[in-house]
Amino acid sequence: MTDKTNKTKLFVWDFHGTLEEGVEIGFFEILKKLAKKFKADRKITLFEVREKYGITVAEYLRFFFPKANILQIKKMMEEVAEIQNQNHLKEYVRPAPGAIEVLSKIKKAGYENIVVSNSHPKHIEFLIDIVGMKNLISRVFAVDRHYSHRKQNPTKEKVKIFKMIIKQKNLKARQLITIGDKATDVNAGILAGGTTYQYLHKGFPIDGTEADYKIHDLREILGEI
Ligand SMILES: [Mg+2]
Repeated sequence: MTDKTNKTKLFVWDFHGTLEEGVEIGFFEILKKLAKKFKADRKITLFEVREKYGITVAEYLRFFFPKANILQIKKMMEEVAEIQNQNHLKEYVRPAPGAIEVLSKIKKAGYENIVVSNSHPKHIEFLIDIVGMKNLISRVFAVDRHYSHRKQNPTKEKVKIFKMIIKQKNLKARQLITIGDKATDVNAGILAGGTTYQYLHKGFPIDGTEADYKIHDLREILGEI
């Protein structure tokens, strides 16, 4: 391996709750609507929605509406898919503070930004576009599980993708810099051997992790370039 290769770094980002904020607020509004419509007595808080951020829509519904039967859950899932269209997402999503600046500087320094997300593939590309990150991100991997009934382990799915990137780009594992807000992101980074950053997003619940670095501002990542 040449010196040049050794200096290479690759920045792998989680999207929801890391590069963007606001999608969860839109989803919180949808959940409140559903609670009213299906006459659920359960009070839903934004904090809980944020705490669970990253689980599937079906898992969310089962958590907030434990008394709902399978048919009702199915009906609710259809409603979510209908309400959470592009216009709805557009209304709520915005870049996380400093995100555009950090992605731009990383790109300008000659490094790549990649997104690995648990989001629905159809949503993710659209969201990246409307928050103005399309030209700053070279590749997007979406682990589609939000609408899936199939049990998947999100950490394992992310590890697979991280390892594939390391191999494809001929990197040393530590040269893969992972940035995410949840334990899943950090644990996947650790299991792949990468350098891990946990973003402690203001107003979001904090997962306990063994991340190499815990940051309150995304700009702290600029120390890597
Ligand atoms: Mg996240």
